[in-house]
Amino acid sequence: LESQLTIPVDLGDRSYPIVIGSGHTAAENDGLKSHFAQTLGDASHGVMIVDKAVSQTAGTSIQAALNGSLDRIDVIEVASGEGSKSIDQLASLWNQLLEAGTDRRSVVIAVGGGVIGDLAGFAAATFTRGLRFVQVPTTLLAMVDSSVGGKTGINLPGGKNLVGSFWQPHLVWIDTDFLNTLPDREYISGLGEVIKYGVIEDADFFDYLDQNIEAIIQRQPEPVQQAVAKSCQSKARVVAEDERETTGRRAILNYGHTFAHAIEVNAGYGVMLHGEAVSIGMQMAARLALDLGLCDSQLLDRQTRLLEAAQLPLTWADADVDAMIPVMARDKKVEHGKLRFVLPDRIGHVDLVGDVPVEKVRTAINACR
Ligand code: NAD
Ligand code: ZN
Repeated sequence: LESQLTIPVDLGDRSYPIVIGSGHTAAENDGLKSHFAQTLGDASHGVMIVDKAVSQTAGTSIQAALNGSLDRIDVIEVASGEGSKSIDQLASLWNQLLEAGTDRRSVVIAVGGGVIGDLAGFAAATFTRGLRFVQVPTTLLAMVDSSVGGKTGINLPGGKNLVGSFWQPHLVWIDTDFLNTLPDREYISGLGEVIKYGVIEDADFFDYLDQNIEAIIQRQPEPVQQAVAKSCQSKARVVAEDERETTGRRAILNYGHTFAHAIEVNAGYGVMLHGEAVSIGMQMAARLALDLGLCDSQLLDRQTRLLEAAQLPLTWADADVDAMIPVMARDKKVEHGKLRFVLPDRIGHVDLVGDVPVEKVRTAINACR
């Protein structure tokens, strides 16, 4: 087990490292202090924004590890759950940052899952026009996806992630030991995104997952660390090529997501976890690709077997095609027109495919019921 892996995210003057280890936050010769000093050397005041569910565990551990790196650390606890990505919670955070004496040289440290990372990241992006921040992800989804890439934001009552900004962290600190307390369902759901990286741009990683999925499910430290590291590498590569989703490259990260979004809306938010919906969405997308003659049946078979071995759902009995199509099309007029999807042609490669006939999309959804 390599004690610590560093993956650079190359974004010019906004570059930063992702540091991955297991138990390294608590370790005697703690790397957090030195990485913190390297990336945020002049900071003296930190504000840790932490999910209540992990404040006694990851929160305490991070606070102890940074003792000495900062003169003062204020702690703001935020309630768990998607509901915290709200205007009210953000406004409350801004006021608490003010009360804590936060200024342009302060550092925000986000400790929690994607909810806390998105919320605290957006608070950091906006308070006094921008504070430096550190991501300390504590869910598998946050480790492999949301903590890397700089997307921050909150929800509106009318829809998810509608207000936000691109704001890159200065450091992503991953301690896979934090996963030990994560409920099984949340952990498995995160594996949906992990497998996605194998399909979209890393065939070797797909093979690795194929061979080690049992150990990963058992949360054995070494394969978990490998899976997180390979996923972060994949995300870092894609983000470095297209930081702000302008060239279209970053869109490949949305493999399975057009279907997944429609499933989440159709089911009602919170009924299905995101990675579960992504798993079913990837199955729909692979079936669509097969039907369009873009890939062979072996791709669908291999993806099916891996998702199944990861204990992820492959079908959704309640899928309502007539409810899902308008969500995917966003514009109701497209209902009878054509749609655009990220589709695989082989394991490790996807393309953005436009002009997909709605009839084929309906067939792919119905095949996964
Ligand atoms: P989450 O933050 O709600 O965490 C899931 C649950 O696990 C919560 O109940 C939380 O309290 C609990 N939890 C967190 N860490 C734990 C731990 N170590 N032990 C025990 N319990 C723990 O959800 P998530 O799945 O991490 O993230 C979902 C959010 O991420 C969504 O809001 C989504 O929009 C966002 N997201 C953002 C990006 C991005 O690029 N910014 C990408 C994907 C998803
Ligand atoms: Zn996703």
